[in-house]
Amino acid sequence: METKYLFVTGGVVSSLGKGIISSSIACLLKARGYRVTIQKFDPYINIDPGTLNPYEHGECYVTVDGHEADLDLGHYERFTNIRTTRANNITTGRIYQSVIDKERRGDYLGKTVQIVPHITDEIKRSVKKLGLTGDYDFVITEIGGVVGDIESLPFLEAVRQLRWELGQNSLCVHLTYVPYIAAAKELKTKPTQHSVKKLQELGIQPDVLVLRTEHPITPEARRKIALFCNITPDAVVQSIDLPSIYEVPVKMHEQHLDEIILRKCGITPEGEPHMAPWMSFLDKMHSATKPVTIGLVGKYVELQDAYKSIDESLFQAATYNDRKLDLRYIHSEKVTEENVGELLSGLDGIVVAPGFGQRGIEGKFIALKWAREHDVPTLGICLGMQCMVIEYARNVLGLADANSTEMDPKTPHNVIDLMEEQKSISNMGGTMRLGAYDCRLRPGSLAAKAYGSCEISERHRHRFEFNEEYRPAFEAAGMACVGENPLTHLVEVVEVPGKRWYLGTQYHPEYSSTVLSPNPLFLSFVDAAINYGEENH
Ligand code: GLN
Repeated sequence: METKYLFVTGGVVSSLGKGIISSSIACLLKARGYRVTIQKFDPYINIDPGTLNPYEHGECYVTVDGHEADLDLGHYERFTNIRTTRANNITTGRIYQSVIDKERRGDYLGKTVQIVPHITDEIKRSVKKLGLTGDYDFVITEIGGVVGDIESLPFLEAVRQLRWELGQNSLCVHLTYVPYIAAAKELKTKPTQHSVKKLQELGIQPDVLVLRTEHPITPEARRKIALFCNITPDAVVQSIDLPSIYEVPVKMHEQHLDEIILRKCGITPEGEPHMAPWMSFLDKMHSATKPVTIGLVGKYVELQDAYKSIDESLFQAATYNDRKLDLRYIHSEKVTEENVGELLSGLDGIVVAPGFGQRGIEGKFIALKWAREHDVPTLGICLGMQCMVIEYARNVLGLADANSTEMDPKTPHNVIDLMEEQKSISNMGGTMRLGAYDCRLRPGSLAAKAYGSCEISERHRHRFEFNEEYRPAFEAAGMACVGENPLTHLVEVVEVPGKRWYLGTQYHPEYSSTVLSPNPLFLSFVDAAINYGEENH
């Protein structure tokens, strides 16, 4: 079939969950057997979110091909089990960069380079590029921001042109907000009407409206919106607040969103989407009542989205272990020798988070020492693994000032250090060790048992590495380097075999965990945490 292009726009306010709606549509279409991909356009000027502070942008997600991406790509993968790439996340900065590069090369043959047509053509090329691979029946493009923003205008103009060119092979799903005014006891449709008007002013008529709401939309409100927005009443669906984002695809299907989309694309829906595996995950989620209590030690704990993929991986692993995740954030800056026991003793397992820079690092060392000495299941991720190594060097190897050269460039024991090829890098964007690398695991190790394999591949995002020179000393002192890159021999996984479950990964296992394919390391960690909790709490 010809590739269909779905555009997902948002109106009224931000944070309505366009990413979740896009993911849910993709999930349903995939469950109907279609080949689907989702891309996100972000209207900011940064080339990618890799240089953005988590306070600005939440977690930075990493694709297999090493692109630092918007966290919505994490949702796309978790909901669809389909890998995204560099082509799935484009910013205004990248669009301008490639237009300016072409201008410098002389590709525009002396023409004046303008937003229309040059920027909009570049945007259109980025949309169609995915379709032209021939790999997809549906390309879903989520436009970041809110309709009416100055920043997203070129993207919406590109959508308008594409819709005109593609006809029935394209569709616009617009997500808006329907507020409930408690004093009047009424749902208000006016913001939705205005938002659709705004889209129409830009030449785009939405085909489907998804109304985000905290209260059920009445049939009357639905009819009113349909009438005033030129939309068929069946194509006005509600997205009501739910206890879990993973229920959204099911709620969308109950309102026939997948069928409506297919029909509007000229396809007659046949049968039902194959949602059995998804439903069995939801069944487990609903029936899990016993908690497993995991502490996440990090410095961005007050931010909801800073550790999104870790939160979701833990949630998936808890669900598959028939437990309800009780996730407690522990602010690493607040952990001291005095309060560490009080903060950590009720936990079944501890995760030490990734990160950059000195802030909060001492608290991570204190938490790790306590966890190791009390033999609590512990998973260190990236900087968390590096902290495991440093704490072990200081307190077991007796190297008092051991450190990472990231924190102390003059440390006498640089157990974590920069790779030679990183030393000359001054440009910060996209220059870390990024994306998926193969890792070979030692047979019989905890990691190998968890994965059920000795050959794995996981995604990275870091500059610093375990310093090879210290490897014999660690091995002799009981910290085993059980995972390494087969080509470079860089250490990727460490564990302390004498402990119940004490393991650190230089890579980020959380990026590859999805609803239908949870990451094995998280499954094993949560299983160990449950056993520890049963014995000790
Ligand atoms: N700051 C560390 C490094 O660059 C760890 C990065 C991370 O945790 N993602 O190596």
